[in-house]
Amino acid sequence: MDCIFCAIARGEMGTKLVYQDDEVVAFEDLHPQAPTHILVIPRRHYASLQDVPAAEIGIVARLAAAAQELARERRIWPSGYRLVVNAGPEGGQTVSHLHMHLLGGRQMVWPPG
Ligand code: 5GP
Ligand code: ZN
Repeated sequence: MDCIFCAIARGEMGTKLVYQDDEVVAFEDLHPQAPTHILVIPRRHYASLQDVPAAEIGIVARLAAAAQELARERRIWPSGYRLVVNAGPEGGQTVSHLHMHLLGGRQMVWPPG
């Protein structure tokens, strides 16, 4: 399967991992939209959040736990941050491997674009 995020998780792209454990890795977004913009992904391939079987939904909590730790490390708490999971075409998802965006270091606005 030809998936760029699977390749990054396997360490094949030379992308520096800023977090890794047995199920999760994280790395800087190629086109950062904020001073901190990290992508947190499962090592296992899921095309989108909608493709995570109910029995494996705990992986989403693992992504959140990694984001929590990164937010502490990057000192974007208690100032605040945003977690985003884009899903599907209208959700704005462009890479078909489940990922959580951790955005911080500036004031976020609502509604999102
Ligand atoms: P999406 O739009 O699917 O929610 O987010 C995909 C994100 O992946 C985008 O913010 C984009 O900049 C980032 N991205 C796409 N390809 C690469 C890549 O090869 N390396 C890194 N580090 N980020 C990527
Ligand atoms: Zn993948």
